[in-house]
Amino acid sequence: MSNSSCSIVRDLLPLYDDKALSPKTAEVVKNHLDKCPECRDYLAHIHHVVRAMQNQNARNNYRYSEVVRRIRRNFFVELAVGAAVFSFACAALIKLASRE
Ligand SMILES: [Zn+2]
Repeated sequence: MSNSSCSIVRDLLPLYDDKALSPKTAEVVKNHLDKCPECRDYLAHIHHVVRAMQNQNARNNYRYSEVVRRIRRNFFVELAVGAAVFSFACAALIKLASRE
């Protein structure tokens, strides 16, 4: 394969992988891939990188959900403590008011 056609095909591979190419261009890329093991390897490499990025995104989403879960848990703990303090204050006021 000529270096220039490999270079052009490799530029197009991300779009080919996303099925974002026109049918005619996709066919040209597919015909090149059928004949060029280096570009097939390059496509496999793109798949590998994309999968790694998706896994990283999944981990980041997991971390984000963990942060949200902790924030919510802390909020409910603070809400419960606040409600307990408020109840105690009300009970103390009612007791004071009933003395008079
Ligand atoms: Zn090639």
